[in-house]
Amino acid sequence: MNSEDVQDYERQCDSKLNQESRTIMMMYERERNFFIIHTSSFIILIMVLPILTGADNPMLRAKAKNVGDINKELKSLVKDMEETMTKADGVGLAAPQVGKSIRLCIARIEDTVTILINPVITKRSDKKVIDQEGCLSLPGVWVDVARACDIQLTYSDLKGKTQERQLSGFSARVVQHEIDHLNGILIVDHANVTMQPTTTQPTES
Ligand SMILES: [Zn+2]
Repeated sequence: MNSEDVQDYERQCDSKLNQESRTIMMMYERERNFFIIHTSSFIILIMVLPILTGADNPMLRAKAKNVGDINKELKSLVKDMEETMTKADGVGLAAPQVGKSIRLCIARIEDTVTILINPVITKRSDKKVIDQEGCLSLPGVWVDVARACDIQLTYSDLKGKTQERQLSGFSARVVQHEIDHLNGILIVDHANVTMQPTTTQPTES
């Protein structure tokens, strides 16, 4: 996108904003790793954040603290995390992975990116399934991880409202993975389950 395109786009945004002041329009330049969101009253930059890596990284090994106020900074972090996860082609991302040791994660649940603030798993099924998982913080590492098939989850949404959900299958797996991050647990800590001779015993899926 060159500067003439940008100016043209901004003119279009301005004229549309005059008609629909509540409408949010986005203009982005992926090469420069940021979004600019035009709204009726302000402009927000959305950054693609660096993802911390390494099984020994102290940030990834810390137990994250509860989120207090849901303020402007937190909302901005959520937007950055959403963009970071999309750019990395991930299905979940926890705040410690981008250097914030707080109990916040995002997860793609049934094709929707869901924001989980102070999430707690209140019930797990006894039945577990083993499946292979990767992690944006451990590039190139794949580990067979046993996870509960079904979970019951409570969390606050971005409006501070408590939500309760039942999740199964892949969504339940993603959320368990992300909540592990909030407790300083990484997939390599589950590595003992790979002891099964998977070449002769097919993995459950
Ligand atoms: Zn991960």
